[in-house]
Amino acid sequence: MIKAILFDMDGILYNSMPSHVKAWRETMSSIGIESSPEDFYMFEGRTGHSTINILFNRCFGRDATPEEAATLYAKKAQRFLELEYPESQPMPGALEVLEKVKALGLQRIIVTGSGQYALFDKLDKHYPCFFDKNLIVTAYDVQYGKPHPEPYLMGLKKGKLQPDEAIVIENAPLGIESGRAAGIFTVAVNTGPLPDKVLWEAGANVLYPSMQTLAKLIETFVK
Ligand code: MG
Repeated sequence: MIKAILFDMDGILYNSMPSHVKAWRETMSSIGIESSPEDFYMFEGRTGHSTINILFNRCFGRDATPEEAATLYAKKAQRFLELEYPESQPMPGALEVLEKVKALGLQRIIVTGSGQYALFDKLDKHYPCFFDKNLIVTAYDVQYGKPHPEPYLMGLKKGKLQPDEAIVIENAPLGIESGRAAGIFTVAVNTGPLPDKVLWEAGANVLYPSMQTLAKLIETFVK
């Protein structure tokens, strides 16, 4: 019996991936590392340092030093705030999904790799009364980022849930891998530019093209 929905945040509750991609590309370009938008849709869910190390290895053949990684990640995070916070864009259809989930009597839990400042205030503004501060997993709660199962296992733990009592909603390949590795039925919603094939190959149990479609069909697998 399903008791809770575990929501990813970027690309599911917020249409924030374009700002993340822009902030990453500008930051890495400033030290001579060129990248494509698709790079960041493929890396989505990784910790900032892991993303930086992949790009360093691709370009310079080595990991970033801890100082380099910390400086670059701070720069990226600052740029993201400048781009995103003036007017965060809730994902179209996400509110309808949340309303249905609440009406079905299911817990709402967020599992994000983000360590955004004032995250709960932002959520409370756009999605008032849908989330509980104690049922959010952020970058500060885990040692490993997605695709490791730890973030979703932590979500289960916070909600006092077994894997078969929850459903994961994810947009990113590594997030889908993380949900499946935690033993949870994982719904992919393809809100970005990657082909559906990439999300199926990551292990998606079902796939929808938008949150609006998910809102229409969510009862079909929650029962
Ligand atoms: Mg996401």
